[in-house]
Formats: sequence, structure tokens, C-alpha cells
Amino acid sequence: MDSDPSEFEQTMTLELSALRPELRVLIVDDDADARDYLVAVVQEAGYKTTVASSGEEALQLLEREFCPIMITDRNMPGMDGVTLCKRAREGQYPGYLYIFLLTAHNASEDIVSGLKAGADDYLGKRNISAPELVARLGNARRIVSLEQALRRALDQKRQMANTDMLTGAYSRRYLERQLSLELERTRRFNHPLTVLLIDIDYFKRINDRYGHTTGDEVLRNTYRRMRELLPRACDWIGRYGGEEFLIVLIDTDLRGAENVAQRLVSGMAEQPVETSSGPIPVTISVGAAEAAQMFSNEVNFKGLLEIADQCLYASKRDGRNRYTMLLAGESPLAPRPGGDHEQGAARQQ
Ligand code: GH3
Ligand code: MG
Ligand code: MG
Repeated sequence: MDSDPSEFEQTMTLELSALRPELRVLIVDDDADARDYLVAVVQEAGYKTTVASSGEEALQLLEREFCPIMITDRNMPGMDGVTLCKRAREGQYPGYLYIFLLTAHNASEDIVSGLKAGADDYLGKRNISAPELVARLGNARRIVSLEQALRRALDQKRQMANTDMLTGAYSRRYLERQLSLELERTRRFNHPLTVLLIDIDYFKRINDRYGHTTGDEVLRNTYRRMRELLPRACDWIGRYGGEEFLIVLIDTDLRGAENVAQRLVSGMAEQPVETSSGPIPVTISVGAAEAAQMFSNEVNFKGLLEIADQCLYASKRDGRNRYTMLLAGESPLAPRPGGDHEQGAARQQ
């Protein structure tokens, strides 16, 4: 699901226009007077500050409370500024860290080694004027703010691709990717996992009678009701197709999933769904499949969904408003004698 570029650009423009100057600057210097001077200039320019008196302390602070801009002295006892640059570049931070290295001399080799170690800019310690420092900080802010805006826009774009726009449920794309990863984990650690494939009964009739807008409302509210009927935060629910949903129950075998399927079927049938066209009775049919049912073969998304789909078909065939799950070795498509729940037959309600 790709949003069009103009939407992306709009988001970027909005993000950029919302930039604030109150970024936090981490000032690292073992000399208290130098630190105080830098703090005064940086605060005067409208930035917040955090101070550290050594490279080790700076790294700890960055881990605890990330600052997007760091000004560090080069010569410090213990970890020097160049080593701090290198170590900071190896860190995993929530955003880009823009680093200024303070050099005592403007010697070319000092500048080159600092830039090579990961500094973005350098400041001559002896001759830096407050206006020049503020101007260079402005450049840093521009880079950092641009990076932050890009990161937010990308997060938003990723979230949109993972979300079904009509209902707010996970998208099919997300389900397929996450479920494939989860199946890998399930196989490796031998944890149970069950999926429930859900289809709204006679949904065409709802569209025909009330129109598509109300049909859409029914989809949204059915999703909400089902979400409420799933108390575990780790269970996911996604929109698998038009009026089909897929629920992934982590660490749950068929026995556990049966409780959930039962709760969903009765929870939907008990109470009509509220819409702007009035309350509309909605029932669902469910087909279940557990990863363990495929352990003799290769466990994959497609195989699991095939079993769930066959069970869903059986629920439809046998009257709808019910769930079906396979007991060992049975086919849900086998003719069922008088609908009895015999030992060994697919379990239904
Ligand atoms: P069954 O009980 O056998 O499932 O009957 P059904 O009427 O639900 O049949 P089916 O599943 O084949 O039809 C699904 C219908 O859902 C077809 C389509 O018009 C409708 N539909 C699919 N996506 C949407 C949507 O996003 N909004 C609306 N309003 N309707 C949708
Ligand atoms: Mg359908
Ligand atoms: Mg249907």
C-alpha cells in the first residue's frame, strides 16, 4: 500500500514547519570554566543543555537521555574527544547525533583526525566567538531537524502501510510478514500458535439493503467488537480481505483458541452492531488452524491459511454463525453424519 508522493511531501512540509529550536545540546569538557562559557552561549541561543565532565559520562548520558547535538573537548583525561566521537558513532541512538569537536589548535592533522573519527564539525577552542558558535549550531539544528522530520515521515508511512485504512486493523501485508516471522519462531522454540480466519455472514445482503457506507460502518464496528473480545494485547487482528479478518493467537493451541472462537461467535451474535442506519444483526463464521497441524510438512503462512480456509468453508456450509476446527487427521470437508459432533470429527459450534 503506497501513499502517493504528494501526501508524503505534505507530511514533510508540515513536519519541517513545526520545527522548534529547543534542541538539547550535550557539552563535554573536563574544564569547568570552559563548560560554563559554552553553556551560557548555547543557552542564550535558545537551546537546552546537559553537561558532562568526561567522555565516559557523556556516553552514559547519551544512553539515558539522548541529545541530538554534542560539543566535546578534544583533550580530556581518560577518554579523549576523538575516542568519544568514535564510540558515540558505534552507539544505537534514536536519532542522528551531530558532533562538534573542540580543538585547542587549528592544526590540520587535528581537524582531519577528528572528522575521520566521526565529528561533523570542529571549533577552534581559543578563537571561537559566540556568534560563530551560534551560527554553526544553527547548521547543526538544520541537519538534525531534517533528519528527525524524515524519520517521523518514514515511521508514519510505514505505519500507514501496516494499517488498513477503513477499520484501523493491521493490513494484510503486515499480517503476512509478521505471521511468517512468528511461524519461524514457533517452529524454532516449539511454541503453539493458532490463527482464526473470520468471515462476516451474508455481508452482501447488508450492503444491498443499507448501502456500502453502512456496510463500511459494519466492518469498522465488527472489528472494534472483536478487538474488545480479545483481551490479550499480544493477539493481533488484521483485515485479511473485503469482509474477512485474521486473528493470530500467539502461544495458543487449538484448545485455547476454541475459547476465543466461541467468545467471538457468541459475542457478535449476542448484540447487533450499531450503525447510523440503526442496529444491524451481524454474525460471523470462523475457521481455525494451528501451526502444529502442519509440523509434519513445512510450516508456512499459505499452508496455515489453507487449513483455516477449509474450516471456514465448513462453518459456512454447516449453517454459519459458528466456528470449525480440525481434530487430528480429519478433513473439514468430509460429509458429517447428521451434523453430530462425533469423536474424531471436526469440532464445531
Ligand atoms: P457468506 O455468508 O457466504 O460469507 O456471504 P457474503 O454475503 O458475506 O458473501 P461474500 O463473503 O462472498 O461477500 C462479501 C462481500 O463483501 C462482497 C463485497 O461486496 C463486500 N465487501 C468487500 N469489501 C468491502 C468493503 O470494504 N466495504 C463494503 N461495504 N463491502 C465490502
Ligand atoms: Mg467473504
Ligand atoms: Mg461473508
